[in-house]
Amino acid sequence: MKIGIPKEIGPGETRVAIVPEVIPTLVRDKHEVFVETTAGESGSFSDQAYEKAGAKIITDPILLYESTDVVLKVQPPQFHPTLKKDEAELLREGSTYIGFLAPISNPDVVRIFARRNITSFSMEYVPRITRAQSMDALSSMSTITGYKAVLLAADKLDKMFPLLMTAAGTIPPAIVLVLGAGVAGLQAIATAKRLGAKVEAFDPRPSVKEQVKSLGASFIEMELPQDVETAGGYAKEQSEEFLKKERESIAARLPKVDVVISTAQVFGKRAPVLLTQDMVELMRHGSVIIDLAAEQGGNCSLTQAGKSVEHRGVQIIGPVNLPATLPMDASRMYAKNITTLFRLLYPKVDAVPDFNDEIIKESCITREGRIVNELVRASLSEKGV
Ligand code: NAD
Repeated sequence: MKIGIPKEIGPGETRVAIVPEVIPTLVRDKHEVFVETTAGESGSFSDQAYEKAGAKIITDPILLYESTDVVLKVQPPQFHPTLKKDEAELLREGSTYIGFLAPISNPDVVRIFARRNITSFSMEYVPRITRAQSMDALSSMSTITGYKAVLLAADKLDKMFPLLMTAAGTIPPAIVLVLGAGVAGLQAIATAKRLGAKVEAFDPRPSVKEQVKSLGASFIEMELPQDVETAGGYAKEQSEEFLKKERESIAARLPKVDVVISTAQVFGKRAPVLLTQDMVELMRHGSVIIDLAAEQGGNCSLTQAGKSVEHRGVQIIGPVNLPATLPMDASRMYAKNITTLFRLLYPKVDAVPDFNDEIIKESCITREGRIVNELVRASLSEKGV
């Protein structure tokens, strides 16, 4: 099978779908790997390193799209500024796409894929079951996001994180509050602890309390709602009554907190607002909020996605695509995730994907000229697109 790895064209995107270290596995499986020149440059993966690992370098992206059976990508297809064509139109008709697809936000791409008989698999739709852990790109990218959010906060904060007892006096530790302790939140807790901060956290899913404590952070106790978790382990949308109580508990802590890292999200919904303007005004001058839910509407009402705003001396940062700030490890982890999914789809060079397999079935978005994912089909027809 001919596998194509285009250079990512999204603004600020530095990752690449495949790194040299996974290529020998694909070559051993009798696949041929074609990589667009400089595709891995930002992550320090040179064309020579790809060639040494067994890939072929292609300089013309049109040729790469036209001559490959499967294209592996990071970002969903978008308009190619040099080729003046959507990447979804560049794929060869009848070929296969694997990558992040965000199908509900990209209905045009999904329609083009269906029309052009492209079989597409969306990394976001890989079910979060134990067997799929090594394909779970949402988790691996969230791990990076949680880590980098803490470094960003430490850089912007006007004080140090650790407790220091020095001849020049005692420096108290920074107090970090983490809201939402899923994959990104737990990594943020661990990173802030490693830097010496005193960490508090909250998440409405009861199972999280032990995980928070095992990382050495304290869990904010509050009355938890019933029936809070979906079968897939995600939090359900909380009632306004619960969110009001949660905001009261958070507000009581804010005067003492130096950093808030908020990660709270509800799959497929706008992120819950956990920090209002009045609450931000309770924080001290010089403190920092890193809102990792910025792209889903933000956990803080003052957040602007992709921007840093200041309100009465408090910096509110709404970062987007933090994994792209660490292209080497983000690409390595993503490459492992996507290669594992690819090998599940094609265990042999001439294999046909088993669409009865739960992982394959749930992550497949378009096939045989149709949108086959029920969730996506329902959502797009509800929106009338
Ligand atoms: P996410 O990014 O969707 O949400 C982040 C966190 O926000 C979650 O922990 C959620 O509970 C929390 N949250 C929602 N509403 C909140 C509120 N009002 N206040 C505070 N926090 C709130 O979640 P995620 O990190 O992608 O994953 C969540 C969970 O999914 C995991 O912890 C795990 O249980 C499950 N998961 C399972 C697997 C697997 O088994 N393979 C893999 C990954 C995740």
